[in-house]
Amino acid sequence: MTGITNIIEDENGDVYRFAVYNWPLKTEGNQKLAVSKAIKDFYPNSKVSIMNPYMRLARDGMNVIRVESPEFIYIDKSSTSNKCHCCGKEEGKILSCSGCMMAKYCSKECQKHDWIEFNHKEICKHLKMFSTTMM
Ligand SMILES: [Zn+2]
Ligand SMILES: [Zn+2]
Repeated sequence: MTGITNIIEDENGDVYRFAVYNWPLKTEGNQKLAVSKAIKDFYPNSKVSIMNPYMRLARDGMNVIRVESPEFIYIDKSSTSNKCHCCGKEEGKILSCSGCMMAKYCSKECQKHDWIEFNHKEICKHLKMFSTTMM
């Protein structure tokens, strides 16, 4: 069985890991291509809706949201544009996080708030990894 693991944030800013099983990563095909397609599907800042997810304790003792199949998720990429990652404001000058260059903020205050309160510190590392993979 193949699957992918990802990091998501809920509406309260809590960070979770979630794993999607039965992800079509064909080993006989070009696996690298399949992986980069999966990364594109989960573009940072996308809104992910999950049907019937359930929490499970992973081997390392951390919670993971388990999804049985890719059909149970819906990815909305419309929120990837210039929208403040913290408060959702769209007008005005938008700043990018200097670490990942992907998280966008309307102000320094929002950036600081996201970094500390919403754990962007943790997410930033993964986003940075993402941007390196995409290059
Ligand atoms: Zn803001
Ligand atoms: Zn960042």
